[in-house]
Amino acid sequence: MSRSAHPAGPRHADVLPEGHYSAPADDLNALDPKVWARTVGRDADGVVTVGGITVTQLAEEYGTPAYILDEADFRERARAWRTAFGADADVFYAGKAFLSRAVVRWLHEEGLNLDVCSGGELATALSAGMPAERIAFHGNNKSPEEIERAVRAGVGRIVLDSFQEIVRVAHVAESLGQRQRVQIRITVGVEAHTHEFIATAHEDQKFGIPLAGGQAAEAVRRALKLDGLEVIGIHSHIGSQIFDMSGFEVAAHRVVGLLKDIRDEHGVELPEIDLGGGLGIAYTSDDDPREPHEIAKALTEIVTRECEAARLATPRISVEPGRAIVGPTAFTLYEVGTIKPLDGLRTYVSVDGGMSDNIRTALYDAEYSVALVSRTSNAEPMLVRVVGKHCESGDIVVKDAFLPGDLAPGDLVAVPATGAYCRSMASNYNHVLRPPVVSVRDGAARVVVRRETEEDLLRLDVG
Ligand SMILES: *Cc1c(COP(=O)(O)O)cnc(C)c1O
Repeated sequence: MSRSAHPAGPRHADVLPEGHYSAPADDLNALDPKVWARTVGRDADGVVTVGGITVTQLAEEYGTPAYILDEADFRERARAWRTAFGADADVFYAGKAFLSRAVVRWLHEEGLNLDVCSGGELATALSAGMPAERIAFHGNNKSPEEIERAVRAGVGRIVLDSFQEIVRVAHVAESLGQRQRVQIRITVGVEAHTHEFIATAHEDQKFGIPLAGGQAAEAVRRALKLDGLEVIGIHSHIGSQIFDMSGFEVAAHRVVGLLKDIRDEHGVELPEIDLGGGLGIAYTSDDDPREPHEIAKALTEIVTRECEAARLATPRISVEPGRAIVGPTAFTLYEVGTIKPLDGLRTYVSVDGGMSDNIRTALYDAEYSVALVSRTSNAEPMLVRVVGKHCESGDIVVKDAFLPGDLAPGDLVAVPATGAYCRSMASNYNHVLRPPVVSVRDGAARVVVRRETEEDLLRLDVG
């Protein structure tokens, strides 16, 4: 492959265009452990390795683009959550972040439970041997068929999201002669994202039953009367990519307030409280996520304190991290195709994937970082925008980042922290084939989700 000289993009701070980026790192070859999976490093030749395998080997064997998943890191993070919360709490991995049968088995082995929110996710979980009683079924519009499958399978809990669903689930359970364990998902008027949260009197969103106006209390009243339901607790999920625990504090205060009202009105103390997921990870070096043990300590203290104040026995706590477990454990490996320096602006680097394998940048302006991984380089940094191959100018993978100025077609680049909400949100836009997920561990790689093929596309298109 030829390394033709490219006119380098803008290099100096005084000529850089506006954007949300920091100055280039001192050493572009360095891999910040905050954003990369734990077994990632460089070998003696400067090639990035993960799980003991070089990215060049992975690209050769499995092609690009590909999601590379560090199994040891995944298991370690899952275990850290499990250990942090201990035997008196439950950790449900949120399957929507990324679900495959391999992941289900790892979670099972590491002692975690699993959240699913569709028949497809339920089927995946059950087919990989997750015991039904360790599965929670979510969703704001579960179909009657999905409800019946979940009840028949014996899922550990269904999280009820509306007044209609209270009746539907009760009806299905009764007609099957079962009593379904349920939680009621409420909205507490807290919306949390990253470093801010907003507490309002009412929630303007599709999930949950509002605490405001007594609706949540009414939902509990109705559910408690139905023979088909065993109400085990209240559920609240306040947002995503959260670093600041104060939103959880307000949420826990309000949930415990409801538990107290339920005790006062019905004489029952519900035994469980679920605080949802949403814990943040580092997408770039600017993010500082908390460790699971810090989160567990903070959440447990908050709930215990609120319950003591309300004179309630502390309920069993559950949490539902998705991103915080799988997000940092994978990166997307791409090959550089074209490089377009735009004078005075930036250099557009096109890779062989794009918004079909990572929609988050286009969807909510997510920030990512990127690194040259097939070699090191000491060339001057150039400001780049990493874009995909789709027919859409918003097809951006990494909005603003620095790569070495001698970057050339054929180089491999990788975008870290793509384990969550990338493969699970992947599409076939432009009939681009969805990339495989390749897991690596101790020098061995294996495909856990294979690359889509043109035959797959044509099989669905029945002509
Ligand atoms: C999405 C979601 C989660 C997981 O969120 P993360 O940000 O991936 O931790 C947990 N619980 C519920 C109910 C969700 O909708």
